[in-house]
Amino acid sequence: MKTKKILLPESQLPAQWYNIVGDMPNRPLPPLDPKTRRPVMPEQMNGLFAEELVRQEFSTERYIDIPEPVRELYKIYRSTPLVRAYGLEKALDTPARIYFKNESVSPVGSHKTNTAIPQAYYNHRQGIRRLTTETGAGQWGSAMAMACNHFGIALEVFMVKVSYMQKPYRKMMMNTWGAEVHASPSTLTEAGRAALARNPDDSGSLGMAISEAVERVFLNPEQTRYCLGSVLNHVLLHQTVIGEEALRQMELFDDYPDTVIGCFGGGSNFGGIGFPFLRENLTHGRKTRIIAVEARSCPKLTRGRFEYDFGDTAGFTPLFPMYTLGHDFHPSDIHAGGLRYHGAGPIVSQLLRDGLIEAQAVPQLETLEAGILFARTEGIIPAPESAHAIAAAIREARRAGEEGTPRTILFNLSGHGQIDLLAYERFLAGELRDPEVSDEELRRSLDRLAPIVG
Ligand SMILES: *Cc1c(COP(=O)(O)O)cnc(C)c1O
Repeated sequence: MKTKKILLPESQLPAQWYNIVGDMPNRPLPPLDPKTRRPVMPEQMNGLFAEELVRQEFSTERYIDIPEPVRELYKIYRSTPLVRAYGLEKALDTPARIYFKNESVSPVGSHKTNTAIPQAYYNHRQGIRRLTTETGAGQWGSAMAMACNHFGIALEVFMVKVSYMQKPYRKMMMNTWGAEVHASPSTLTEAGRAALARNPDDSGSLGMAISEAVERVFLNPEQTRYCLGSVLNHVLLHQTVIGEEALRQMELFDDYPDTVIGCFGGGSNFGGIGFPFLRENLTHGRKTRIIAVEARSCPKLTRGRFEYDFGDTAGFTPLFPMYTLGHDFHPSDIHAGGLRYHGAGPIVSQLLRDGLIEAQAVPQLETLEAGILFARTEGIIPAPESAHAIAAAIREARRAGEEGTPRTILFNLSGHGQIDLLAYERFLAGELRDPEVSDEELRRSLDRLAPIVG
């Protein structure tokens, strides 16, 4: 009998997160205060994030212990299965062995709970009563809603308007766990009102929703904090449970990947699966290719510029060193809402600059086609975001076929698509297209950045 999937017993779940900053040949540049252009001190971020999260954001320790209450909650769904995709391999008639890590089994259907749980926990431990956040496709908002409910924290979510309209079930999930949800841009904040004055039909963006959520913290700064679902170092740190488990599970399959793939919005699921394998490259001479796959209509890694830029549209955050399209770049309304973010996290950006990871961009239609093939061969309907990783895995498997070389490919299935069915319906009806981003459009967006941050 062939082994299809491997899970780990609870006793073997990771006890620590892996902080790749401790092993990077060049550490990420520091975030800067936009007014003084001097490095931001950790204390300056304590008003926005829980103190322990700020400590982790600046940490260079290689390993950080996962607190017991967090490990307990992880057990609701961890370990997640590592699965051999025999069905997909057969359909592709490839000599490659394809594995995927199935993060879709979490209560909200994606990897986002891996960081939502510790973020809610550290805020709770500090006595914070209220959190604000943004959400794109609704995965992050759902994860925070679940985690905040557990720790008795009130949550306010700003949801990108296009997703709010397309994905009413995500809003219902958040409401079920007790969170309050607003379509962004909203009339509740200065940033939202200004956006609506410029364009009443503004469909929103993650950058704008972040501005709104951050602005709300100032309403009650004593007891309110903000939390972010991707991009920042502490978020990527928490996601490394994915790769740490996968390393052990690959060992139990008696195999090792030469290619590890994650889709890319801000870098959290990519870093989560990739960094533990990159550690093996950096410290044990392994040569695994680690590939980030972005949406071709939001191409910060493949066509963006490495530059200090704001994390949000209104410019409330510090300046982060990142591959960016410019903080007011407005991505097309593709269905992979979680990939519609203008920048890449500082760690991933530095790793790409140093040539330690690779980046690819895949167009929407190819990703949905890949998602459908995956659904029909492996049974799981993937999130449109995750379908980017599948599309890249299929490309790699086809290349293995052409070259006639065996390959071992591992990708992260960051989430399922059961609440994104509209994307598949529209694809099957032939209604979707591949939005193009012109060089001119990118240049204009980046030119707007120069006088502000330069
Ligand atoms: C949020 C999300 C992403 C993109 O965010 P990253 O931080 O880049 O991982 C990808 N897939 C799913 C299912 C998501 O919910």
